[in-house]
Amino acid sequence: MKIMVTVKQVPDTSGKVAVNPDGTLDRASMQTIINPDDLNAVEAALALKDELGCKVVAFTMGPPPAEGMLRELMAMGVDEGVLITAREFGGSDTYATSQIIAAAIDTYGVESDDIILAGRQAIDGDTAQVGPEMAEILGLPHVAYVKKIREVTESEVVCEREIETGVEVIRVKLPAVLTVLKDINVPRLPSYRMKMEGKEKETPVWGIADLGLQENQVGMEGSVTTVMKTFTPDPRGNCRMIEGS
Ligand code: FAD
Repeated sequence: MKIMVTVKQVPDTSGKVAVNPDGTLDRASMQTIINPDDLNAVEAALALKDELGCKVVAFTMGPPPAEGMLRELMAMGVDEGVLITAREFGGSDTYATSQIIAAAIDTYGVESDDIILAGRQAIDGDTAQVGPEMAEILGLPHVAYVKKIREVTESEVVCEREIETGVEVIRVKLPAVLTVLKDINVPRLPSYRMKMEGKEKETPVWGIADLGLQENQVGMEGSVTTVMKTFTPDPRGNCRMIEGS
């Protein structure tokens, strides 16, 4: 059994958010952080590693500096990090992104008892689509909004997922994709010893040819959606402030 976890490096939106004239995020001028939900996915993977002794592999698609983030994850206990990067991947929408990450997971190899974990949502794109889309592309069952992993066996996982009206308990056959909520755990801090060990580890870097994808499956060409415009809506009506007790 191994746990594959997808982790996105995102702009730190807690500080000043810089926006380009066309409405897109000015990513270059902003600090980057590990997507918060993905830290919970990593922690869930490491907790399973502590319990079952399985290997944990992190995958990130992003520009070459994202390798630094993979090293941070190794300092938390992740065994291996795979960087998926290529000029052709720029401009990918969620479908193309899912296609690329799914291809990387498939290339790495999915075995019958593997679990793939993703965060529920990235704080920049905010769609929560990539986890379920990856699962569909890989032809695997998936459970979204997981708040607790109750039990894992060689053939299935039992988890709790949050829904609007309560909690569903789901038994799902492995291999499967789970997307996790922030409530699932508190991520551990990196350790200095593992940080030093992580420096020695090789980080595979995969581009389009390694994944067996064609140019028309990635980037703008492989995208099925186009953002036509982003804008802040005009305020509707005036607000009347009422003072007093
Ligand atoms: P979500 O679906 O909210 O993420 C859910 C989970 O999926 C995450 O928690 C994480 O575990 C996993 N995940 C998501 N993305 C990654 C990743 N890259 N690596 C590892 N795990 C991941 N963005 C750009 O930066 N540059 C562009 O040029 C660009 N062009 C775009 C063009 C279009 C038409 C559209 C629609 C979007 C574009 N985007 C671009 C945004 C980009 O598509 C999304 O950021 C990306 O697909 C992930 O979607 P999301 O952020 O909503 O992730």
